[in-house]
Amino acid sequence: MDKKYCLGCNKNIDICLFSLNNKEIDGYQNRCKNCKKIQYYISLSKKDKWYLKFIKEFNLDFINNKNEFLIKIKQFSKWKWENIKQTDDYKLLNKQRREKNKEQVKQNNKKRYKEDILYQNSIKNNVKEWEEKNKKKKNQRRKNRYNNDLDFKLKLNLRNYFNISLKTIPKKSSILDLIGCSVEDLKLHLENQFLN
Ligand SMILES: [Zn+2]
Repeated sequence: MDKKYCLGCNKNIDICLFSLNNKEIDGYQNRCKNCKKIQYYISLSKKDKWYLKFIKEFNLDFINNKNEFLIKIKQFSKWKWENIKQTDDYKLLNKQRREKNKEQVKQNNKKRYKEDILYQNSIKNNVKEWEEKNKKKKNQRRKNRYNNDLDFKLKLNLRNYFNISLKTIPKKSSILDLIGCSVEDLKLHLENQFLN
């Protein structure tokens, strides 16, 4: 096999280790593929301040230890990524991304809740289970909402008003005959007026 002298490694090596280049007299690059790669990384180190940081961090003499340099190069992406993750800019970006995503998930779930009866029931069951396990928290939350959410306050007061009113109607009453339903039915109907 033909040999060619590489200006990078300073020795004769197989011609197949060189890339083609029309501009050169013999049609090949004057440095082998490996040396071209190293040359590229060195030029990168001059442009990319992260790269300089990396070289400093790993105490890397990239001119004298080319092979080691190539191995360490693989650590560079990982190292750079770990560093970027620590920056405030990235943290902020990530936070914004999460919040945007959160809003999207919320919207999707809302839509599903309206359209999917099975999903709706499973959510209702989960809420019920949670409330039974966390009665104190539930009461505190209701209390907070009652104090801060006027809409909720009105609904709750109206519901209580109807509940008390219905209790005053005797089980067998002419009013119920007139309405044509039971107390339970009426209660359910009235309650449904206040559910979202
Ligand atoms: Zn070479």
